[in-house]
Amino acid sequence: MKRKKNNLRRKKSNLDRQYKTIIAHAWQNENILRRFQQMELSLMQCESFALLTHVLLNESPVRFELDQVTLILLDPRYEIRRLLLASEVDCQKAFPNLFFLCHAQEVLPLFNAAQLPKLGPYDANLHAKYFRVPLHAQNDAILSVAALPLIQEQDLLGCLLFGDTHADRFTPDSATDFLQHLGAVISICIDMALLRDQLKYNSLNDALTGINNRRFFEQRLPEEISRCKRMETPISCLFVDVDHFKYFNDTYGHATGDLILKQVAGIIRKELRATDVVGRYGGEEFVVLLPNTDHRRALDIAERIRKCIEKHYCKYEEHKLQVTVSIGIADFDRPADDNKTLEEIGQALVVAADKALYKAKQAGRNCVAVNSAYQVSATA
Ligand code: GH3
Ligand code: MG
Ligand code: MG
Repeated sequence: MKRKKNNLRRKKSNLDRQYKTIIAHAWQNENILRRFQQMELSLMQCESFALLTHVLLNESPVRFELDQVTLILLDPRYEIRRLLLASEVDCQKAFPNLFFLCHAQEVLPLFNAAQLPKLGPYDANLHAKYFRVPLHAQNDAILSVAALPLIQEQDLLGCLLFGDTHADRFTPDSATDFLQHLGAVISICIDMALLRDQLKYNSLNDALTGINNRRFFEQRLPEEISRCKRMETPISCLFVDVDHFKYFNDTYGHATGDLILKQVAGIIRKELRATDVVGRYGGEEFVVLLPNTDHRRALDIAERIRKCIEKHYCKYEEHKLQVTVSIGIADFDRPADDNKTLEEIGQALVVAADKALYKAKQAGRNCVAVNSAYQVSATA
């Protein structure tokens, strides 16, 4: 009877232990699930690829208590890097753990053949080059790694690596359902963010010359006017027009005309500061905004651009074509203007520069003429 009681007591205590273990696991799983869901929500709210990369590389290590997170993306045509460049994000500085590769073969060995997450010990041959900047673990080495393949609509986008200083954090026998799901969500979010960035880029850039388009220029114009009013600094506008462009089109064909436009745009961009705004206004016309520059200084800059283009010579078969431009300049330097809106001031500035361009054309082309928004608005 006593033995029976003891047996029952032992069984009960075993059951209690098992029950506690199951409850602890359930709590742990719920906790993991909650963290994964929060992460997914943050990712879905990202409006750009740069923001998404920030969440993945800078926030997820804290959220998942990881020592290192690395994102590897396939970018054989430099498209992602070009988008990041256009959004003025210094990738190397902002995301030292973001890597771009050109060939899928370089990524494939990181996970297993079935393209499922691969968990296991750190392998210097595979991982060393991707764990070069320790985040929290300044001195500790990464000992275990989870590699999540990123696949969207059967296309391999790249791989996300989670690194941990604990050897038992990622082991080959661990369950991978959560990670597999997270990989799928991240892949969709990357695809969406890149698509959104591409759309934005296309809507603000000129496809032929690669510089900003008129829409972008018109968005920036009131912002720059507002800044110069606030800082009480002048701002100048250049209106650049290729001389006799129709002749080049008619004589050498539209492809040559296009080439001329690309080269002229490139020269204008190269001669300006990063803070200057340049856009293709239409056809063979370009506009430039020079913040913190009055018309005297703008005249020097315009002359420099004009001379560079004159000296450049565009090549067409055996011909060397000398292309010239005429440039109109207007500036705005009244700190406190009348009741005009920023848009109206901007428009007046562009109209004044266009009028100056007309003067340059009349003066024989391949020259620069100055107007000022003050004169235009005074007579308006
Ligand atoms: P001006 O010296 O007075 O400025 O004369 P122009 O010949 O440069 O000016 P005009 O306005 O007569 O001709 C501009 C031409 O630019 C007409 C148009 O067909 C051409 N054009 C506009 N956009 C493009 C383009 O994207 N590519 C090419 N190749 N030509 C273009
Ligand atoms: Mg024109
Ligand atoms: Mg022209």
